[in-house]
Amino acid sequence: MLVHIGKIVNKRIIGKYAIPAFNTQDLEMTQGIVRAAEKQKAPVIIQTSVGALEYAGMEELVSIIKIEARKARVPIALHQDHCHDFNLIKKLINLGYSSVMIDASHLTYKENVKLTRVVVSYAHKRGVWVQAELGRILGNEDWQKVKSGKDLMTDPDEAARFVSETRIDTLAVAVGSMHGIPVNPKTKKVLTTLKEHIDLERLQAIRRKVKIPLVLHGASGVPDQQIRFAVRTGVAIFNIDTDLRVAFNRALRENLKKHLSIYDPRKILAPATDALQDEAEKKIKILKASNKGRRPD
Ligand SMILES: [Zn+2]
Repeated sequence: MLVHIGKIVNKRIIGKYAIPAFNTQDLEMTQGIVRAAEKQKAPVIIQTSVGALEYAGMEELVSIIKIEARKARVPIALHQDHCHDFNLIKKLINLGYSSVMIDASHLTYKENVKLTRVVVSYAHKRGVWVQAELGRILGNEDWQKVKSGKDLMTDPDEAARFVSETRIDTLAVAVGSMHGIPVNPKTKKVLTTLKEHIDLERLQAIRRKVKIPLVLHGASGVPDQQIRFAVRTGVAIFNIDTDLRVAFNRALRENLKKHLSIYDPRKILAPATDALQDEAEKKIKILKASNKGRRPD
């Protein structure tokens, strides 16, 4: 069923388990995610990026997610990932999103607070949650590239001030995880050996000062052990995109290589959707969200 994010993300879950926020961009990915959630009886967030909305069409993609979520036997919430366009946020709120992320992290602290407050005021009047980001998460976003630097990480004191000044509902923290897969700039090869590391002490320090649910972006590529620690420390939402894409791609390539004569897109895509489902189920288990998707009251 399609539910408000507040039904599945709340104080009761913090430190015990976390909700995966899976990105989708089409029918196949959405089906793979929903099937994984149903099989694991887990509550999940399905989220869209600006790029995904452009790729599939906003109303088209939102309709697919809403129909799949309503039919599902587990609670599913709809969230907009990184968005710096207030007009687009208004449209998405009208389309039924229960949570949106205003990403003004590229602005100065003061400007970030100002824009975030405007969005919070608009969203809260309509019962919608707002996520914001403080610090800069490394890697590629749709419209920006963030390279490196320890000073880009979230400062615990500033985070506490930011939350009280903006009244946001969830906070995305920059503690070392990154978006996408790192690629060697010279050889253009994927650096599969590079493991991402979360600054766990910083995360604990943020947790002590910030009481709202924390969100970890770029959770793909972070070792499972660190993910488990982050769950215990109080991260309530983990954004997962890259690992699903990688699983989908791998299965797709293998399938095409093995069956040179297939030309039916359904037969080409089905094994990839299954692989994405398996990967999503793995993530749900690591976050201890299995069997937590009972019908909300
Ligand atoms: Zn992100």
